[in-house]
Amino acid sequence: MTGKQGMTDSISRADGPAANIYAGGGLDRASLWRSDDKWILSQLDRPEARLVPLSAGRVAIFQQGGGPVVAMPRAGDYRFWLRNGWPLHFLGLRDGSPLFVIDLPDDAPAPAIDGSDAQFTDLREVGAILPHPDASLLAYARALTHWHHTHRFCGRCGSPTESRQGGHMRQCLSADCAAQHFPRTDPAVIMLVIAGDHCLLGRQARWRPGMFSALAGFVEPGESFEEAVAREVMEETGIPIRHLRYHSSQPWPFPGNVMIGFHVSADRSPLRIDHNELETADWFTRDDIRAFDRHGRSLPNADSIARRRVEDWVEGRIQAP
Ligand SMILES: [Zn+2]
Repeated sequence: MTGKQGMTDSISRADGPAANIYAGGGLDRASLWRSDDKWILSQLDRPEARLVPLSAGRVAIFQQGGGPVVAMPRAGDYRFWLRNGWPLHFLGLRDGSPLFVIDLPDDAPAPAIDGSDAQFTDLREVGAILPHPDASLLAYARALTHWHHTHRFCGRCGSPTESRQGGHMRQCLSADCAAQHFPRTDPAVIMLVIAGDHCLLGRQARWRPGMFSALAGFVEPGESFEEAVAREVMEETGIPIRHLRYHSSQPWPFPGNVMIGFHVSADRSPLRIDHNELETADWFTRDDIRAFDRHGRSLPNADSIARRRVEDWVEGRIQAP
């Protein structure tokens, strides 16, 4: 069951040290086993079974050796959590040990690990400084619990649904409907538009002051990723793209997306900004971006694919296609 772990790891890190945060967990999701309820229960009873607690989408973190560590108590030490009937979903096997996310009430106290009290923390505050596999595990746990929160009723008939298959399916409880619903991930494209020695960055009015990022947008029904890239760049800035190249993708559990990252080449034409989408946008050189902090500007947080690709471009690791 764990034989594919190494393969998953090498695929997800194929783009080297700048691999995206929240990807590359190397977890064995045991997808062939998790529909077996008896098997799931037997995993929960194993002494090495661990719980990944979430509360209001926040993750349990404690400090150890000067850095953040994810609190993952043994299931056997927190039986009272299980007895309370709070939602529990199987995540997979890490080095053969079963991991479950438990969705605690909003006011739940965080667990204590080795005498240290954990604190429920926004994943975005710690994602970039946690070990890669832990950040990935928490992203998965957060996205899965969010899906359960928003799919308590059947989208087809409106009846209540119930979690099945270790939390990887919700069954409509109406006998007439009996629809099965599976976890959703919404795709969004994110693209670094490059024109010679400039790249195109924009900002939305709701972002923190001065922050600029790559253009991005949701993929619409009946649209390819490539078409979504071209449409979004045209809609937001009036720039026709020339060529595009896929780079990498990133799970983005805020709340339930996957970001599909491209590099795009274009001509540095005047911008026609759609102010419903963007407060502003502009072409920037590498030196402009290096001097961002001197002009009250900033890039997105270090956990984002946008930050990593802009830095890759500034440092010459990626080129226009
Ligand atoms: Zn239904």
